[in-house]
Amino acid sequence: MLKENAVATLAPASARARSMPRSAIREIMALAAEQTDVIHLEVGEPDASTPGHIIEGAFEAARAGWTKYSPNSGLPALRQMIAERSSKRWGVEVGSNQVVVTTGAIGALYTSIVTVVDAGDEVLIPDPGWPNYESIAHLIGATAVHYALPAQNGFLPDPDEIASRITDRTKAILLNTPGNPTGAVFPRELMARLVKIARDRGLYLISDEIYEDIVFEREHVSVGSFGVGPNVFVISGFSKTYAMTGWRLGWLVCPPDLASVAIGLQEPLTSCASTISQKAGEAALCGPPDCVAQFREMFRRRRDILTDVFKNNALLPMVPEGAFYALVDISRTGLRSLDFAKRFLLERKVATVPGITFGPSCDRFVRVAFTISDESLREGLQRLRDYIEKRS
Ligand code: PLP
Repeated sequence: MLKENAVATLAPASARARSMPRSAIREIMALAAEQTDVIHLEVGEPDASTPGHIIEGAFEAARAGWTKYSPNSGLPALRQMIAERSSKRWGVEVGSNQVVVTTGAIGALYTSIVTVVDAGDEVLIPDPGWPNYESIAHLIGATAVHYALPAQNGFLPDPDEIASRITDRTKAILLNTPGNPTGAVFPRELMARLVKIARDRGLYLISDEIYEDIVFEREHVSVGSFGVGPNVFVISGFSKTYAMTGWRLGWLVCPPDLASVAIGLQEPLTSCASTISQKAGEAALCGPPDCVAQFREMFRRRRDILTDVFKNNALLPMVPEGAFYALVDISRTGLRSLDFAKRFLLERKVATVPGITFGPSCDRFVRVAFTISDESLREGLQRLRDYIEKRS
């Protein structure tokens, strides 16, 4: 007989949950939380507040009773707006039945991958790349296979190298442009070649374009602009474009038959994205567009601070063309990236993300984000440059 509230011997948490790779950024954030006066170069979200008209839209919606579940697919008006926006940007016809509104872009990524990838399949993901791709593959029992984004090639992939990694178990290729952590923006010819490889080899192409509106030099070229073929998922959202990370709102666009599957998957995942956030999303898409350009200019100005601080040395392998990140080369210090990031934080009070977080090729870098005020950014970057130079 067990005593009241006692439990017979339990198995531990699931093996998949326990073996999920954890990001090294957590260690840095925990360490940073114990310090005072830290300059935060690790934070991957805009520091700006969500524009007023979007917040107002959410308040009005809440008062008007938009406080219930929405359909699994998202509110019809929002899906329509996303379809129109996609059609306009890509120059191809996109219907609202191809749009699924999700809980952040991460919800769209998870949904897209679960829609087409089975346990035992392989998914090609970038190295360096956002660590959540690998975690999602792990959680569903798929294998993440890295393809290289070499620093000497401006962090752009070689399509032949990607093709060489395809096996009979490969199901999907995941792309991210503009890229986190690299800041690289894939040019049109490269996108065209990647689209062709996926078509020719019968693979799904899942394109994470969450930073599509934060581009400084080249144009952003969406996979969608080559047509939303039967193998295509395009992912984006509100978090970065409208400084709406906490609202948890994103979307995917794919062919209608796959959209039906993806919509069904929302029920056990989240049921639907927050209805109030969806109304805020409507306010964002039909409101004045100036805020998007203003955010872009703010990040461009800060990107220029970065290039100014790192001019005349080889610590910056590539000037970021989009998103709000850069990889800084720490190899001449002889330290691994986690060790470097910890020491630098403790000695100079600046938090960065160890490159190893983003893949095995990235241990000679730390990632900085330009998501803080110009003054703090310059100070933090100068400390980083001086620290590397002193330890070289
Ligand atoms: N994709 C990339 C490359 C990201 O860096 C992020 C967030 O940092 C996301 C997707 C997730 O976006 P969301 O906050 O909308 O889930």
